[in-house]
Amino acid sequence: MAGRNFLFVPGPTNVPDRVTRAMMVAMEDHRSSSFPELTRACLNALMPVFKTMTASPILFPSSGTGCWEAALTNCLNAGDKVLASRFGQFSHLWVDMCTRLGYEVELLETPWGEGAPVERYLASLSADKQHRIKAVLVCQNETATGVTSDVAAVRRAMDSVKHPALLFVDAVSALASIDFRMDEWGVDVCISGSQKGLMLPAGLAVSCVSQKALEAAKSASSRRCYFDYADMVQANAAGYFPYTPSVPMLYGLRESLAMLAEEGLENVFRRHTYLAAGVRAAVVEGWKLKLCATAPKWYSDTVSAIMVPEGINGAEVIARAFKRYNLALGAGLSKVAGKLFRIGHLGDLNELMLLGAIAGSEMAMLDLGVRIEPGSGVAAAQNYWRSNASVADPKTVAGAKEGMAA
Ligand code: PLP
Repeated sequence: MAGRNFLFVPGPTNVPDRVTRAMMVAMEDHRSSSFPELTRACLNALMPVFKTMTASPILFPSSGTGCWEAALTNCLNAGDKVLASRFGQFSHLWVDMCTRLGYEVELLETPWGEGAPVERYLASLSADKQHRIKAVLVCQNETATGVTSDVAAVRRAMDSVKHPALLFVDAVSALASIDFRMDEWGVDVCISGSQKGLMLPAGLAVSCVSQKALEAAKSASSRRCYFDYADMVQANAAGYFPYTPSVPMLYGLRESLAMLAEEGLENVFRRHTYLAAGVRAAVVEGWKLKLCATAPKWYSDTVSAIMVPEGINGAEVIARAFKRYNLALGAGLSKVAGKLFRIGHLGDLNELMLLGAIAGSEMAMLDLGVRIEPGSGVAAAQNYWRSNASVADPKTVAGAKEGMAA
């Protein structure tokens, strides 16, 4: 098909050309005397992204799922109890992994469209007088439903009853796009991946582990080998990896971290909030459709899950968008299959890229008989962005106005 593919799934995201170019390198010896420079550049530049001064960033050749497994098997004893909530396909898969690895899960079943139920976490933690719960699991951004949870509030709940459990946070579709604070929130393991806010291909499990979790790992009896934190920390201290790393991915990571630093992490968050609000304007004001997230406090700034009207199959909207318009939208997963489609708005993107996704979604829906006004989503997003432009880039907007006056 002529023209480029519009990739708007919520990961993998668009890889900036600068990052692609940085990855096009000849293979080299990962045990050379100069290799530690690359390792250290990546690990050091990850610290501010996790907002930590004391925890250890850890990179496994894997994806986010590998980080889930590493967190559980490094920090827990076989059969330990964890407290988790489930409100979408990814929080479900993490719970499923806990069960399959033999941990006992106290499960807070939560309606899809809502986020982590802090009051219920608090109730479970305060009832756990024997401190049998060894880890508290929170999915910061449930990619399947477009819902963001309040991790700081879960930490406050833990502190309010002085519960000593470790706090594991899935920030796969949050890190480097939505604010995440390892030290301030007392997170023990942050779980993420390369293919979302870090703007890389999939293939790196990007994690960060507190000193408390590394201490717990020393005596934790769960079996692990490839994903052993201690082996990784020891090799990293000398600037190396315990096995062959993906060198191009490390060059790509170094470049994407440089891009994030140049833009400024807080500006990156602001850009995501601003772009997300434009997409939500398209959905709610333009198309008059509903989001899966049931209240504004749950709205995700990295992905919008859009409910299709009764009688319309969301999977057909996605198929039409892909086959006819070369636009890749995110599918409804599991319980919400067919009921929604998702627009990913994270990573390297701007208003015009998103207008393409909004216009393509609109055309695909119109083709399938969804009663929306042609152009309504595009207009609502434009109106939002034009009236809030100063949020995105005050300097550019001021400059543009001066230019016009001259
Ligand atoms: N957690 C969340 C919130 C995700 O969105 C994903 C993937 O999209 C995962 C975990 C699993 O990560 P991966 O597919 O990188 O293994």
